[in-house]
Amino acid sequence: MKMIKTNKEYTLKIESVSSEGHGVAHIDGFTVFVPQTAAGDTVRAVITDVQKRFARARITKLIHASQDRCEPECINYGQCGGCQLRHIQYDKQLEIKKQSVESAMQRIGGFTHFKADEIIGADISLRYRNKMVFPVGEINGETVCGFYAPKSHDIIPLGDCILGDELNVKIIDTVKEYMTENNIKAYNEKTRYGVIRSIFTRKSFSDNEIMVVICSAVKKLPKDELLIEKLRNISDRISSIILNINTGKLTLSNENVTLWGNDTIFDILCDMKFEISPNSFFQINPAQTEKLYRKAIDFAQLDKNTSIMDIYCGIGTISLYAAQMAKSVIGIEIVEQAIKDAKKNAKLNGIDNAEFYADSAENIVPRLIEEGRQTDVIILDPPRKGSDEKTLGAIVKSGAKRIVYVSCNPATLARDARFLAEYGYRITRSAIFDLFPHTCHVETVILMER
Ligand code: SAH
Repeated sequence: MKMIKTNKEYTLKIESVSSEGHGVAHIDGFTVFVPQTAAGDTVRAVITDVQKRFARARITKLIHASQDRCEPECINYGQCGGCQLRHIQYDKQLEIKKQSVESAMQRIGGFTHFKADEIIGADISLRYRNKMVFPVGEINGETVCGFYAPKSHDIIPLGDCILGDELNVKIIDTVKEYMTENNIKAYNEKTRYGVIRSIFTRKSFSDNEIMVVICSAVKKLPKDELLIEKLRNISDRISSIILNINTGKLTLSNENVTLWGNDTIFDILCDMKFEISPNSFFQINPAQTEKLYRKAIDFAQLDKNTSIMDIYCGIGTISLYAAQMAKSVIGIEIVEQAIKDAKKNAKLNGIDNAEFYADSAENIVPRLIEEGRQTDVIILDPPRKGSDEKTLGAIVKSGAKRIVYVSCNPATLARDARFLAEYGYRITRSAIFDLFPHTCHVETVILMER
């Protein structure tokens, strides 16, 4: 085998695209991943990093372009890295995602012949996101706002991101203008000096409104009335301006002060109204989420005698939707604020057969099952790291007839489904959803039955 060395350039034929959205090639049988390429490309690429079992390379020249390619149509493409599949035609993107789920289920799950029943693509693949976070920083004395470069906290200043609302760019420019005019500095993580950390926007598709959250390292913005006036002048679609006071870590804190307008924003999902506070988790592509939830409920086969447990329930979106068709629902979620929202949203939608617990799944699911709570159907929608053996072990003991597993990570889905299969559950239906067009992310729902 040839020695593969960093900085050496090769001509590579791209054979396929990995689950991370990187083109896959081989040099004498050794795997090389090349971002921003497509199956069928021939490229010149320079090796950037060599590991034990694979190497990474950067494309330097496209020698032959694959038929799967299309124009990326984004001014930030190439720098941003957020849309790994932007250069690939949409129907091919769907094939890549289907392949990546099937391959995980076969390899990791041991479901040798697994094929997904269907993949449901998005009708709208632009401006589908309802949430965006733009870190603010400084480069050569100038305030910049954009996205983090991959695996770093260096900010790449960017123009309009066409996954989000077109107003975002104006909001960013306005905040920067306010900062420059009033000599307000971006917060610097290293020196711990400065004021503004990031700009966060949340959009309501149903009301066409936007909430602007300014994440700040200080308790009061200097001359905040000037910022409010400027932002309000952009558009009457801006329905609230909130200061998130965050003297500690990077993510949003729990301390919000409404500078102007409403404290929360409302959106509609599956004909239900949800009140969303700045910190609550809410699926970021509502149009596709509706399709996903409807399929999950279809898999659950509910009637007025069914008792459900919805584990990892967030603000109770699936729980409340399911409750309308079932006898009762127990929702379980670790974030306390999300459970408060879930209870509020139950009232808002006139639902009285759902109860919610703020606790970790691994703690409370075994306890509730031990107590003998009746559960005919279990719905679970864990974060990327998947569920755990305590929770899954309790699910198995519950005697539930059906398990509906919603997953944003095929690898952990495959691992957990394998566990459930060892205890007598069989995969009977499956569907894949594209909630994040142009990125490598994919959402899967499977039904497992005893
Ligand atoms: N089903 C919801 C939320 C899914 S996201 C929806 O569709 O909107 C996954 C959720 O799991 C998050 O809200 C997260 O806070 C929660 N979570 C993460 N780890 C958890 C754990 N160990 N126990 C319970 N909930 C957890």
